[in-house]
Amino acid sequence: MTFDFKKLPRCGAKARSNGYQPCRQAAMQNGRCYFHGGKSPVKHGFYTKQAMQERRDLKEFCYRIRYEE
Ligand SMILES: [Zn+2]
Repeated sequence: MTFDFKKLPRCGAKARSNGYQPCRQAAMQNGRCYFHGGKSPVKHGFYTKQAMQERRDLKEFCYRIRYEE
């Protein structure tokens, strides 16, 4: 199976980080890629220590419900 990357919508954002070249990442539904879409989980604390801990607790909790009965 071939996957034609050229047909995918492109992000096209020009950013200092890529030398003001149009971003070539595949765009999401909002027309921007993961990095330029403004919904980066990094910016919203998704990877903060506390969030990591909370997710770990939740995972453990779910795991227990499923397997301890
Ligand atoms: Zn982009």
